[in-house]
Amino acid sequence: MVLFLILFAVLSAAFAAEAARLTDELRLARLALAESERRLAPAPTPPPPTPVRAFECRREHSGLLWFPILTAKDEEKLIVGVSSGLPHCLRCVRPLRLRSGRTEAWVCSACAARHPAEAADLKATDEVLTGCLSDFFARHPAYRPAPGLSAPKAARPAAA
Ligand SMILES: [Zn+2]
Repeated sequence: MVLFLILFAVLSAAFAAEAARLTDELRLARLALAESERRLAPAPTPPPPTPVRAFECRREHSGLLWFPILTAKDEEKLIVGVSSGLPHCLRCVRPLRLRSGRTEAWVCSACAARHPAEAADLKATDEVLTGCLSDFFARHPAYRPAPGLSAPKAARPAAA
C-alpha cells in the first residue's frame, strides 16, 4: 500500500511537470503565431492621393486669347501646376498653329489671321501666367503657390 502511494505521488509529480512544460510550449506557440499573423497581415493601404482640380482662366494678351490652366490641390489649398496652353485666335477662339516660313507666325486655320511668333514667346506666356495667377489669388485668397512651383512669381494680394 505504501509502495502504491509512493508510486502515485511520483507519477503525479511527473504529470504535473509535463503539464507545466506543455502549457509553456503552448504559450510560446501562440505568441509565435500572433507574431506571424502580424507580419503576414497586408500593409495598411496608403491614403489616396489628394485629388487635384483644374482652374481654367481666360486672358487676352498681345492680340491673342489664352486659356491657361492652374492645377490645385483643394484640400491643401495649393497651386501645384500652371500651363499656358496654346494661344487662340481672338476672333474665332480656335487654337493657333505656329507656321514656319520666311518668318514664323501663329496662324488661325479658320480666318487665316497671322500673329508674329513673338506674340506667344516665353516673355508673353510668362506675362499671361502671372496675370492668371494674380487673378486667381485675388479671387481665392486661401490658396498659395506650392513650394518650388515652376511658375512666374505672382504678386500676392495684401493680407486682409
Ligand atoms: Zn481666327
